[in-house]
Amino acid sequence: MSIYLDYNATTPLDGRVLDVMLPFFREQFGNASSGHQSGRIARAAIDGAREQVARLVNAHPSQVVFTSGGTEANNLALKGCASRLMPGHIILSGVEHSSVRTPARVLQKHGWMLDEVGVDASGQLVVANLRTIFSGIPAGCSKIVAVMLANNETGVIYNVGSVAALAREFGATLLVDAVQAAGKISVDFADSGAQLMSLSAHKIYGPKGVGALIVDKAVDMEPVLHGGGHEKARRAGTENVAAIAGFGKAAELALTELSMRHAQAQALHHYLEARLRSELPQACIFGQQAERLPNTSFFALPGIEGETLLMNLDQAGLAVSSGSACGTGEVEPSHVLLAMGVTPERARGAIRVSLGKASRRDEIDCFIDCLKQQARVLQSFSTVACA
Ligand code: PLP
Repeated sequence: MSIYLDYNATTPLDGRVLDVMLPFFREQFGNASSGHQSGRIARAAIDGAREQVARLVNAHPSQVVFTSGGTEANNLALKGCASRLMPGHIILSGVEHSSVRTPARVLQKHGWMLDEVGVDASGQLVVANLRTIFSGIPAGCSKIVAVMLANNETGVIYNVGSVAALAREFGATLLVDAVQAAGKISVDFADSGAQLMSLSAHKIYGPKGVGALIVDKAVDMEPVLHGGGHEKARRAGTENVAAIAGFGKAAELALTELSMRHAQAQALHHYLEARLRSELPQACIFGQQAERLPNTSFFALPGIEGETLLMNLDQAGLAVSSGSACGTGEVEPSHVLLAMGVTPERARGAIRVSLGKASRRDEIDCFIDCLKQQARVLQSFSTVACA
């Protein structure tokens, strides 16, 4: 038995995407910068994909800069903008992905100040905090704000509109990390008030190693990769034509199938959480008071280590994720849960289930049955008190 319930980590490649990609590994191997027929075919594929990706998030094709993924898009946004400004303030929410947090910390070493906007117990941004932070920054100081549209762990959807309104009022550049939101909920760059938005193909049934940064034309941005004039001199390097074409197809499918995928995931999600609440009433579901993605449940069972539960479920053929990061051998509790005020003991027990377009009700049944069995076994050994 093998049941995959970790679609926020990555998604399988859609067969229709693979079909679009294959010719670029075989006969259509041209370099998109070449001036001959084979180069023109590659260029046309990239241009087509640029339109498809732009359409997914209501952006203009000229605003799409292809990158090697969401991590590079976030790095390019933060480092690229910071390079063209006098060091000032970078303001992040406390729940950002490491691909935003880490480059922001790097910029701290180059004179930028780092401020953090808190989240409340439901996981939602405390927007009033942002006004306080902005008000304390001297006029004329550069300001970059980064906020995700939806959280990868809890699935909480952030009130980016309010952040954008404040960013506009105080003259800040806004990056929205839409890596987890795109393909799951409707995303509108033009309407968001953001100047920058990051995307990743492998979260929407596209290939790994390709993504995009959507860049408003008013943004002055230094490339991170220097070389040729690719991507209108915003990201040098010979384009990965197959991956970009695949990203385009995945974006097209994500848009045309959005409402169907959303409805399907939501129905299963309701079913999963209804069974959790009735059969494991001690489960604490994080972020459940906030608006969330239709596919994500992040929860903890008292007295159970998430890592142990994850390993036992893995042995039983169930792939889920824990909310802990294991960096130096120590299992660190999720920074997202800590930011929400969850105790480290409880946070260490968290596991995330994220559903995808191939998820089925019988898989949820199997997961809940296995979880109940594991909970009985592990809780009987446990000495950890429920926080
Ligand atoms: N941003 C968020 C919210 C993510 O969840 C991820 C990946 O999990 C990334 C950025 C990084 O994207 P990529 O894996 O394409 O580098």
